[in-house]
Amino acid sequence: MIAQVIVDVAAKQTDRVFEYHIPKELTDVAVGSRVVVPFGRRKVQGFVVGISETTSYTGKLKDLLVVIDELPPLTPELIALSKTLADKIFSYRITILQSMLPRVMKANYRKILVPLTDEIKENSLFKGEPFDLNEVSDLETIVKIKKLIKNNQAKIEYLVENKARKKQVAAYLLTKTRTEYQEILGGIRKTSKNQRALLNNIVEKYNEYPKLGSTIESELGISSSTLRAAEKKGWLLKKEQEIYRNPLKDFESNASKHSVRLNSEQLDALNSIGTSIKEKEAKTFLLEGITGSGKTEVYLHAISTALEQKRNALMLVPEISLTPQMVKQVKERFGDNVAVLHSGLSEGEKYDEWRRIRRGEAQVVVGARSAIFAPLKNIGLILIDEEHESSYKQNDTPRYHARDVALLRSKFHNCPVVLGSATPSLASRARAQKGRYKLLRLTKRANQKSLPKVDLIDLKTVEFAGGQFDLSIPLVDAIKEKIAKKEQVILLLNRRGFASFMLCRNCGFVLKCPNCDISLTLHKDTGQMQCHYCGHKEPIPRKCPNCQSEKIRFLGTGTQKVQEELETLLPDAKILRMDVDTTRRKGSYKKILDSFGNHQADILLGTQMIAKGLDFPNVTLVGVINADTALSLPDFNSSEKTFDLLTQVAGRAGRAEKTGRVMIQTYNPENYAIKLAQSQDYERFYQKEMQVRFQGNYPPFFYTTLITITSKNEQSAAKEAFVIKRKLMRELHAPTIILGPTPSSVAKIKNQYYYQILVKYKYEPKLHDLLHQIQDDAQLAQKRGLNIYIDNEPERIM
Ligand SMILES: [Zn+2]
Ligand SMILES: [Zn+2]
Repeated sequence: MIAQVIVDVAAKQTDRVFEYHIPKELTDVAVGSRVVVPFGRRKVQGFVVGISETTSYTGKLKDLLVVIDELPPLTPELIALSKTLADKIFSYRITILQSMLPRVMKANYRKILVPLTDEIKENSLFKGEPFDLNEVSDLETIVKIKKLIKNNQAKIEYLVENKARKKQVAAYLLTKTRTEYQEILGGIRKTSKNQRALLNNIVEKYNEYPKLGSTIESELGISSSTLRAAEKKGWLLKKEQEIYRNPLKDFESNASKHSVRLNSEQLDALNSIGTSIKEKEAKTFLLEGITGSGKTEVYLHAISTALEQKRNALMLVPEISLTPQMVKQVKERFGDNVAVLHSGLSEGEKYDEWRRIRRGEAQVVVGARSAIFAPLKNIGLILIDEEHESSYKQNDTPRYHARDVALLRSKFHNCPVVLGSATPSLASRARAQKGRYKLLRLTKRANQKSLPKVDLIDLKTVEFAGGQFDLSIPLVDAIKEKIAKKEQVILLLNRRGFASFMLCRNCGFVLKCPNCDISLTLHKDTGQMQCHYCGHKEPIPRKCPNCQSEKIRFLGTGTQKVQEELETLLPDAKILRMDVDTTRRKGSYKKILDSFGNHQADILLGTQMIAKGLDFPNVTLVGVINADTALSLPDFNSSEKTFDLLTQVAGRAGRAEKTGRVMIQTYNPENYAIKLAQSQDYERFYQKEMQVRFQGNYPPFFYTTLITITSKNEQSAAKEAFVIKRKLMRELHAPTIILGPTPSSVAKIKNQYYYQILVKYKYEPKLHDLLHQIQDDAQLAQKRGLNIYIDNEPERIM
């Protein structure tokens, strides 16, 4: 038998299938298996993508060496998907195959030096063992090694290591009958307290065994040495048992499965989706529902329908809104059938959840973007909540969009995809308009409450409370009023840190990151200036680094500064801050939300991570400190992003009995995105924004592809960009538009200069092959220090 293998070397020459002979011993190899194969003079990992009886190759094929896992980690469906997707998004197939697995399963290569003669084995370098080359740093050793290789006394070999570890615990089994244990107990001295306690426990609770070692130890207050002694005497048999790390242990279902009555709109939506599940239709629904309209209830009922049909369900939520609240709801409804995949889990937890899915032990998967590759079989429903979120698009290689992958998987499984949002992406909404997606609408808030009242505060004319220019008097007054009534407040400021830049008033110098074309942000809590692009840190300057003047000022604002202002203006209020800086530690996200939910604080101040999915009944005021942060970005979709964010955050107010209020501070109260967010009128925003996109020749009226060229040398990046542009110009013709090359809006990141070309097209049959050519040529360019990335339908084109 012959195995077709994609090897773990991401390069143009290796981006194809290699054939290996399957030796008789490796009968368990299947499509989807991870294997180790000889490749040149190395051993590398690979994936089996096909198995055949014969080959057209006439030479002698090498043997497969190892099959790594008992169960092939990837299903034949995912193997096929990797091929389609690689072609679509200009990626190497191996890169996609690897993204489908938890990170711990990525191959780890160790380079070792192996002695070739017995004499050399005794050399001080080896001491009888192969020598680990990854640990070599001193020149003297390197010279020694080179000499050994040159004299054929040693050679370099590559080992493939498996980092994925299963968690194991010790369980103890009984070896004798109850009567036999009673007899042993009779013969034990009174002073051997621990042994007597153990034997007593065995006799009394005979049927509870086998038990975990840790359980016995804590129940009886004995130590592991007693257990070891018992094992030695043959009383107990120790067995290593594999267990899963349970990331949901904090959410044990409290069985409060109160069933919610659906309103007629929710029922209609559910019926349409349910019919598609039952009829096995690969149909796409756009579920457009205003905030608070009960989309989640529709999701949960639809999942039930899939499970009733003996099929599984996959649900995606954006990383930042994968809040404990959403997970809790799904977990309460479906208990142990749920597996969760997101970046808040430890690598071990992720691996365990992933294996539960692969083994068919979970029927419902909830996860962030990469969970779209979950090895779930027999899928009956795919849900994507907040489908407009840009985090569904991966920003680095492989640049896939989870929605596109969902559509491919739905075709394979013949199941519906449901895209849900209060503010659907223009692209999805336009497709629904054309009838390619079926539009389902929820127009009523599930609790019958009207949408909260939204006020705009014009920062150009309003008076500010305190000495800073962040909090207006009307907003502060409203906060005071709510706190006095024991109600809670959410404040959004989409900028972390204290001040966004340092300016010298003497010479105009702005302190920038030495590696990036961006100013450094002041972080008062750590006492440092930080780069939000590369993480560079330096001390806060006391003098201007340029002219030594002490007349320096820290301008702009951030969550840390607003927190300080609030503490001054409202000394009795308890404030929680939620941003990247306060949620770095595992579990801190949940801790902050739990504490706010238990009313241990009056104000929750945070970046966009507080805008979505949160449901706190006692929140009656939502304040937006500055609505203009996203609007000022020079990107084609900045109005859409602004409208989305404001609508989402406004939806956090007045979700239960009490009426909600929203206050938006802005310097642009006349801007249509902000005005229409005020009236929460998605429909009019959609119409208006479609006109703007039409006039600007932007998506969804044009397809777009962004080609980015980077180099440490600015000129060579620019030069290469022009070479690529000429290539495109030769083959592509109007109405296709080629913009650039131009420096990206942040022209330098981590000492790399960025240039970009944007191709906008309606129908351009030659483009696909042309881009594949550019991708192939990119490898040669890489040798000259250039990196070229192709991004199909980018989320950002700045
Ligand atoms: Zn200066
Ligand atoms: Zn930087």
